[in-house]
Amino acid sequence: MDQNKIPQATAKRLPLYYRFLNNLNQQGKKRVSSKELSDAIKVDSATIRRDFSYFGALGKKGYGYNVEYLLGFFRKTLDQDELTEVALIGVGNLGTAFLHYNFLKNNNTKIVMAFDADQAKAGSDIGGVPVYHIDELEERMGNVSVAILTVPADEAQPITNRLADFGLSGILNFTPARITVPAWIRVHHIDLAVELQSLVYFLKHYPLEQDGS
Ligand code: ATP
Repeated sequence: MDQNKIPQATAKRLPLYYRFLNNLNQQGKKRVSSKELSDAIKVDSATIRRDFSYFGALGKKGYGYNVEYLLGFFRKTLDQDELTEVALIGVGNLGTAFLHYNFLKNNNTKIVMAFDADQAKAGSDIGGVPVYHIDELEERMGNVSVAILTVPADEAQPITNRLADFGLSGILNFTPARITVPAWIRVHHIDLAVELQSLVYFLKHYPLEQDGS
């Protein structure tokens, strides 16, 4: 199937579907209904049915979706067999946590190197990942095409400019800074403080009904 035909919003949910179906498969489940999926991953079942129709998976009433078929599709689409190496820049509190976590449950992404401006951190090894001085960025990055940014906000743009100069293709930006990139670099921005504030705001102003409906 032509991957370009999957809408971006659907594509963003792929890893979520993949993780859940992988768990089901490991538990030996052969079929899953859109209702079960919906309850588990909190995406409404109409959206799930629409998404799955893009994957060529047609759920049968009272039967559900074939878990193995979907997993096969997701593996192909998400290139699970191909490892994407990632660099992390800024080994502070958040960066250190990511190095320890290292997305071990995703078998297709791995942080393989980290950089920091602090001489005391350069040369160390955190969670099995070597930390280099930021001066070595260009010479060390090699084929690594994805970076996680966990530097202070005012360092985000200068570092991004350096990354852009050698053909990086993706940045996962955890800093509060909005960064400007050339057209060929995709940036996904996760501002944890904003997300948390937004949750608290919604809890205050849009309280959920007690019965959960
Ligand atoms: P965090 O924000 O992750 O909780 P922190 O509060 O420990 O971290 P910050 O001041 O946010 O520290 O800095 C994050 C890390 O980024 C630090 O380890 C710092 O040395 C590093 N850093 C600062 N400037 C740069 C830079 N230009 N290049 C690479 N690393 C940098």
